[in-house]
Amino acid sequence: MTALLAPATLSRLDAPTLQTIPSAVGANVARVRAATDAAIMAVVKADGYGHGAVPVARAAVDAGATWLGITDAADAAELRAAGLDVPILAWLNPSGVDAAQAAADRVDIAVGSVDELRQLVADASAPVRVHLHMDTGMARGGCPVDDWSELLRVARAGRGRVEVSGVMGHLPRADEADPSANAAAVLRMRHARDAVLRAGFGPVLVHLAATAGALTDPSTHFDLVRIGAGLVGIDPSETVPLHGASRLTASVVHSARVPAGTAIGYGGAHVTGRETALSVIGVGYADGIPRELTEGAGVEIGGSRHPVVGRVSMDQIVVDTGDAVYPRGTTATVFGPEGGAVPSVQDWARWAGTIPHTVVTGIGTRVRRATA
Ligand SMILES: *Cc1c(COP(=O)(O)O)cnc(C)c1O
Repeated sequence: MTALLAPATLSRLDAPTLQTIPSAVGANVARVRAATDAAIMAVVKADGYGHGAVPVARAAVDAGATWLGITDAADAAELRAAGLDVPILAWLNPSGVDAAQAAADRVDIAVGSVDELRQLVADASAPVRVHLHMDTGMARGGCPVDDWSELLRVARAGRGRVEVSGVMGHLPRADEADPSANAAAVLRMRHARDAVLRAGFGPVLVHLAATAGALTDPSTHFDLVRIGAGLVGIDPSETVPLHGASRLTASVVHSARVPAGTAIGYGGAHVTGRETALSVIGVGYADGIPRELTEGAGVEIGGSRHPVVGRVSMDQIVVDTGDAVYPRGTTATVFGPEGGAVPSVQDWARWAGTIPHTVVTGIGTRVRRATA
């Protein structure tokens, strides 16, 4: 253990950093634009899938996105303060909606139940624009089909306080990249829209698809597609190669040579089979490095991929660097878009038995955010 803790040399450490690559976000928006005539909403919920809502939103808007999507209307304030001026939609609002604030921030509110709509009508001091949210097969939000006509009745009665400007749904199975898996939702969406128009509302913006639907099934596009994962290079359907927009780096904190038979980390879960060099990298599961890793996980240092050995600790991981000894302060790339020795977010998802979304959104708050 003493050998492990002895610094090879002393040099300045760079704090762990998650970099957003705006040019990649822009290229991903361009890829979606090539797949559809629909308008593009950049979904920047969960702080821009962990990257920072503002830099991701800005890059997407610069590349042609004309809407922003968030889950909580309160998050609009940050986007407006940053000078982002395009329309914003908020669809979950876990702490309720401050109707006056929503009107002031010019946030459209998606409403998926009669109760929510009644509440909004009661609270609205200035007219609030609403998108009526139909449950298109997820049972996770959205108004049940059987309540749709009552929702429309409440919306009509609330005219002047709420203004119906959109109709939305969400696809439960678009990642299967099989249009037949979306057919029922598309049909329900059409019926929902037609009922809204028959009830005398209009024009309304109709939207159903997220990244996977936008990339794989034009029948789901309607007027607008909501792109979140795709902005940062994740295609949930795994059919379209997008541009990785995330780079996580951290410094080598300690490095040392150790003999064969050295047990590493908690539980001695890995024992070196030969004399080798180890580097300790200053990120761990508190920073979002998945603790459940299978064989094969690694990071890039000095142009080579080196395996993570032993258990992931709260604040650190240990990497076996073989014959190479990297001085303290050397940058390790945990993931990035480069390919080759640099793992991708998708590689980490595979090693952890999860989806790329949880890798990027799991990056902890103490990891510095930066823009490339
Ligand atoms: C998260 C979310 C999106 C974006 O989905 P991606 O697959 O990340 O593009 C779109 N619409 C709704 C309702 C969402 O919750």
